[in-house]
Amino acid sequence: MSTKPAVPHVTNFIRNIVEADLASGKYATRTWGGKPGSASTHAAAPADAAKIRTRFPPEPNGYLHFGHAKSISLNFGLAQNFGGVCHMRFDDTNPEREEQEYVDSILDAVKWLGYDWNVNGIEHLYYASDYFDFMYEAAEYLINAGHAYVDEQSAEQIRSNRGTLTEAGKPSPQRIRSPEENLRVFHEMRAGRHAEGSMVLRAKIDMASPNINMRDPAIYRIRKAVHHRTGDKWCIYPMYAYAHPIEDALERITHSLCTLEFEDQRPFYDWLLEHLAEGGLLAAPLPHQYEFARLNLTYVVLSKRKLIQLVDEQRVTGWDDPRMPTLVGARRRGYTQEGFRLFAERIGVSKADSWIDLSVLEDCMRDHLNEAAPRRIAVLDPVKLVIDNYPDGQVEECHPPNHPQKPDLGKRAVPFSKELWIEREDFMETPGKGYFRLFPGNKVRLRYGFVVECTGCTKDADGRVTHVHCNYFADSKSGTPGSDTYKVKGNIHWVSAAHAYACEVRLFDRLYKAVHPGAGERDHIDDLNPDSRHVITAQLEPALKNVLPGEHFQFERHGYFIADSVDSRPGAPIFNRAVTLRDSWHT
Ligand code: ATP
Ligand code: MG
Repeated sequence: MSTKPAVPHVTNFIRNIVEADLASGKYATRTWGGKPGSASTHAAAPADAAKIRTRFPPEPNGYLHFGHAKSISLNFGLAQNFGGVCHMRFDDTNPEREEQEYVDSILDAVKWLGYDWNVNGIEHLYYASDYFDFMYEAAEYLINAGHAYVDEQSAEQIRSNRGTLTEAGKPSPQRIRSPEENLRVFHEMRAGRHAEGSMVLRAKIDMASPNINMRDPAIYRIRKAVHHRTGDKWCIYPMYAYAHPIEDALERITHSLCTLEFEDQRPFYDWLLEHLAEGGLLAAPLPHQYEFARLNLTYVVLSKRKLIQLVDEQRVTGWDDPRMPTLVGARRRGYTQEGFRLFAERIGVSKADSWIDLSVLEDCMRDHLNEAAPRRIAVLDPVKLVIDNYPDGQVEECHPPNHPQKPDLGKRAVPFSKELWIEREDFMETPGKGYFRLFPGNKVRLRYGFVVECTGCTKDADGRVTHVHCNYFADSKSGTPGSDTYKVKGNIHWVSAAHAYACEVRLFDRLYKAVHPGAGERDHIDDLNPDSRHVITAQLEPALKNVLPGEHFQFERHGYFIADSVDSRPGAPIFNRAVTLRDSWHT
């Protein structure tokens, strides 16, 4: 029976903030011009039908991982819950690291999680690079208003003059240049007349601020790189800290959610948007940034850099290796979108960093698959069972239910015959205490079939059991009158040898053996689990030969499996184990 653990009451402080904002009417006067844009786009527009706007803003420089799933569920989930819209936005302001391949895989992963940026027929799919013109004009505005200047100090000088936590920074000699002069040099930067690294545009705020992010942060730099969408139109690119708030404001985001490490950036976020709104470039009310704790999972690494290393060094078979914490990997492994959504609900959202045990995620997958996956029979470590008193050549049908909690899914026929495959561990020549399965003289039920009594075994020259022998009781077949007069303690599964589908099955364990891989001074590579992947040949019930890639099943007594989407062939699926029936690490 499904014994679902009660869903713990988790906090989601952001939900409370949204509720309070809606109750106070904070955003009631917001207008929406039908597309992202400056103040003029939204000025004469009607009230925004979306109660709130959130966004999921990945940089298209890698594959999405479990941490992103938390952010996706949070942002899209809030929009769904509160009658809002969540924008799918590519934060593609860094020309060097971004590729179309990542854009495609990210869109695919968000859809796979069950979310949609198309709301009432409108596609809310945006690219930060579409805002480059606005960002450039906004920079010109800041220069003219005396809020930005071109600094020609070297990167090294800028760093050393920034000061420390206890010491104020030193102003750059260029800090006092006139707006006209700054504008002239900024235009030269844009025209490509200066070398990379020779100068940057900086916001002019406060070199003595206790928050180092407010000590005249760089907002534009020179990069003579081709961008995946704008080509060579630009040779200057906005810095993340400058670009991100502007993206949010143009899109009229209400609640801009990011991870805790951006907390110190919030004063600059507000400074920038307030100045641009003052200048009439951005519409009020302005977006607000809120920070939440990023997902940290035990036994898992979620750093892009480390994941790239695993792929590059071929520690895994690729980004979609079923052991990878990527969404493409998880999907191939047999994790489900429902499992991820359950996970997001259970872990909640908090303001303090913490570690979530990987078993919480695995339990979510179990709980969903227990509901959803039809049952099938598979023998993973096969040995032959011969029923000596069963007629040669006879075949009959047994009828296992497709789902014990869902009788409406019916039963299916599986063939039964004289020679069956059973699990090697379901026989012991000399049983230990409490062992109720096959041993000479003991009776067990062959699940959905007959009761048999074990008579012994045959072995090869090395003493390894090759055949287990038994006799059956013809009047004991499950479901026939009187069959329940046989009382046995053991109940084992089997597959008819003549009909079985011999199949490649992949069993996965955790990719790392350490709770916190690579913690402290350790190299995460040294924490890899050398036994994280086992490939076996299993014997499956014949119907499994014809399933489609991506179909899920519970193999009784073994766990949840999926037909592999990459290596399966028509009529010859290969199976991956998504998760065992029970947590084998904590019992
Ligand atoms: P990088 O390490 O390259 O900065 P990133 O992991 O931050 O990458 P982004 O593409 O910038 O990836 O992230 C997109 C969104 O996903 C951001 O809003 C970010 O806050 C969120 N996000 C990333 N990692 C996690 C995590 N572990 N938990 C929760 N949210 C995350
Ligand atoms: Mg990031």
